[in-house]
Amino acid sequence: MKQLYRSYNESTEIFKDLEKKFPNNFKLESIGQTWEKRDINLITISMDIKKADEQPALFFTGTIHAREWIGHELAVEFAQYILEKLDTDTTIQSYLKGTTIYMVPCANPDGFDYSYNHFSFWRKNRRPNIDGSYGVDLNRNFPIGYVKSTKTTSNVYGGPEPFSEPETRALRDFVETHKNITIALDYHSQGNVFFPAHDFRHEDTIDTTDMNTLCANMAEEIRKISGREYGIHQGKPPIKLISGSGREFYHSLGIISTVVEVGTRNISDYMDDMNENLREHIPALLYAVNEVPNYSKNNSVKRVDSFEITEIGSHHVNLKWGYETNENIFFEIYRAQKDKQFCNSSNLIARTQSLEFSDINLTSNKDYFYNIRVVNKLTGEKSPFYPQIRLRTDCDYDEFSRTYYATAKETGYVAENLNNNASHFGVNSLFVGIDENKGISYAIVTVSLKSVPENAIIKDASINLYPINRVSTTIEKYGEWNVGIVNQETMGDITKYEDVDNMQIIQYVGRPTESHQLTQGIWRTWSFSGMECKTLQEMGQKYGKVVFRVEGPKELIIGRTRQMMQWDIGYGKFGYGLTYRPRLELTYTIKPTITELYPKEVFTVSRNSINQDGISSGFDENGKKIYSTFEFNLSSMPPYEDTMITKAYFELNSTNIYIKDDIRFHLEFVDENIDQDYDSIANREIIQNIGYDVSANELKNNQTQYFLFDSFAEIILNEKLKNKSDVAFVLKPTSSKKSIKNKSVSWEIKNQALSPKLIIEHIPKRRYPLPKVTNTSLSLENGKIKISWENPKEIGFKGTKVIKNAFREPYSTHDGQKLYAGTDNYTFDDFGAKDIDKYYAIFTYDEVPNYSEPVIIKYEAK
Ligand SMILES: [Zn+2]
Repeated sequence: MKQLYRSYNESTEIFKDLEKKFPNNFKLESIGQTWEKRDINLITISMDIKKADEQPALFFTGTIHAREWIGHELAVEFAQYILEKLDTDTTIQSYLKGTTIYMVPCANPDGFDYSYNHFSFWRKNRRPNIDGSYGVDLNRNFPIGYVKSTKTTSNVYGGPEPFSEPETRALRDFVETHKNITIALDYHSQGNVFFPAHDFRHEDTIDTTDMNTLCANMAEEIRKISGREYGIHQGKPPIKLISGSGREFYHSLGIISTVVEVGTRNISDYMDDMNENLREHIPALLYAVNEVPNYSKNNSVKRVDSFEITEIGSHHVNLKWGYETNENIFFEIYRAQKDKQFCNSSNLIARTQSLEFSDINLTSNKDYFYNIRVVNKLTGEKSPFYPQIRLRTDCDYDEFSRTYYATAKETGYVAENLNNNASHFGVNSLFVGIDENKGISYAIVTVSLKSVPENAIIKDASINLYPINRVSTTIEKYGEWNVGIVNQETMGDITKYEDVDNMQIIQYVGRPTESHQLTQGIWRTWSFSGMECKTLQEMGQKYGKVVFRVEGPKELIIGRTRQMMQWDIGYGKFGYGLTYRPRLELTYTIKPTITELYPKEVFTVSRNSINQDGISSGFDENGKKIYSTFEFNLSSMPPYEDTMITKAYFELNSTNIYIKDDIRFHLEFVDENIDQDYDSIANREIIQNIGYDVSANELKNNQTQYFLFDSFAEIILNEKLKNKSDVAFVLKPTSSKKSIKNKSVSWEIKNQALSPKLIIEHIPKRRYPLPKVTNTSLSLENGKIKISWENPKEIGFKGTKVIKNAFREPYSTHDGQKLYAGTDNYTFDDFGAKDIDKYYAIFTYDEVPNYSEPVIIKYEAK
């Protein structure tokens, strides 16, 4: 297996050859020597090697961990790929026109050589430690977050001090003297994931969107080639971050920086996987090369000054931004429905020179993510991104929205060969799949549905799990992960493996997640179909909760020890906290109450008479129209503030007298103050036609006719309810015949069952948000920022939500990091950096939820 990979000496020879063959485009040099006196190779690729240092540059590092061979191999393949195509491929020519590529194919030559010739899974360099042991983990030897330790035999020993190692000093000296570097990519294996840098404080930084987008766009290039989905993961809260890594050091110098973890094993089978990995990463690297100039300090195209939401509806969003416009620039707006999504032509929704944009055709109660960048149309240069806008559209008029988190004590995992399964519940990550030692593992996720109203009708649902780690899924394209709804009659003890294994699954939710779609750091969503929503609703009504069994592959293949996925539980010391708990998102409506209204007054109005005894419409003996009018009173309806009309229609029954002539009847919604005289009715103002016209002929087959309100007529009807005014309708005949006389249809009135009716379906739903919180304040307590407020006293108050955003006043309850939701009157910003200005937005909400306008508190760093 090893013979298919290049050794360090072999790659050096290849680079020497390339230098001979492409003297104007390629250069090999040494940037330092290792403990064992090997040269640390640096290669440069440029359209003009003499001017390479004058161009913005990509910095590639590989195999800083000795056993992670992919970096070294990818560098060789990528260099050859580019140089061989440079003469003929115009795309590559255009990418390289403004960009230089620097690559350190192997940042740990001694360790790699040791791994190549002796101990495959060696990770560190080959420093002789004082105690006779060997090696420092070079990726723990950089200064940012460096941790001092004396455990020299540890695989992550960071060395006696930062930059104690010749390898890391060589990288430092090169990067510090090459200010033209704008993007740094550090290649490792394994995990199929990008780890972008962060500032160790877990605040979004100005370039968070840039890093996520760069990774997402590279991930999309990979997906296009192999179908493999890569995760994007900034890591756990500060205490758990990886210390002393190169990535953070490069980022501290203002470089967009990420680790790329390739594949499912440290050293993969070259024929099977490594070739695939190389092939999928070349276009991703090319994408990064093309982005390099956009992040240069010399880029004249600056990002927008601001990017804000001005309005959110259930189906639209209005956005605005600030920029000093000129005719040579335009803006690109990208929209995604998932976090950490790419920005490419397939989700570019607007190119505009305006400073605002209205997005329509959105779905109610759904998450949307917007990105913006500026483009110079003359040079093609693009600005970095402004921090992303995140929002959720409002519920539709008949909808309610709920987010339910898994119940701690009924959520956990059970493994075939463990006898402490009960102790996993509420505290341990959810391990799902198979492992040589643990055997088969299932996760159980329980969600209480007690607060879903009895008469709720679930319209839309999804179950969401947060993948923390996929490092234990070590087999390529093997197995799938499913979420099943458990039949609770067959459930038994959820903490016993046998019971979980035997429980019956009523239905699996949505589509399976296959092994190559497993990511980390990006929520995985299983969406319910209409049928599955029904099952969910039944579970809620019958048991007050739903239980899910999450399952993965149940067999291993020879030579492999595990195919196991780790999902976050969000509880206990291993969990990431509230925001990462398994959650069920629901959209539901309520079974409507049906109110039938009978007319207060009915008139038949013809040229010669006004008649209150019967209803007829058609044409009189002179060919003049005969109208019918109907008036209804809405006083029996519940109050407007707590009622939403969801459907309305008008029922009319004809008597048994039929005519064959071409007469059609139109029902018109008119202003309620119509006078009962012929001229004012003939010249009435129509608000809207209700439903479609009906022909006299159709009445023969169907005595009962319904005229259905459209959405506009419903809005007016709601307004009438608000004003408690009467509503009125006119039934008008028309005919295509020039002269039609003495033809009319009579309609039932005496028989109550057949009498004209206005039928209104309505649900109890609050229309307006509650008052805002009051008496807000910020303070410091035990070194943490504390946000306090007073909740409104109104009935209907359900809670308060607190969001923070370092870049703008949050307009949406989703536009920032969620700090709190509940009924308390204070919260702490646990990981909030005290030296960064930021906004806190406090919203109140009711059961819909309608959110109040936020109260914004600005935190100013001292
Ligand atoms: Zn590594």
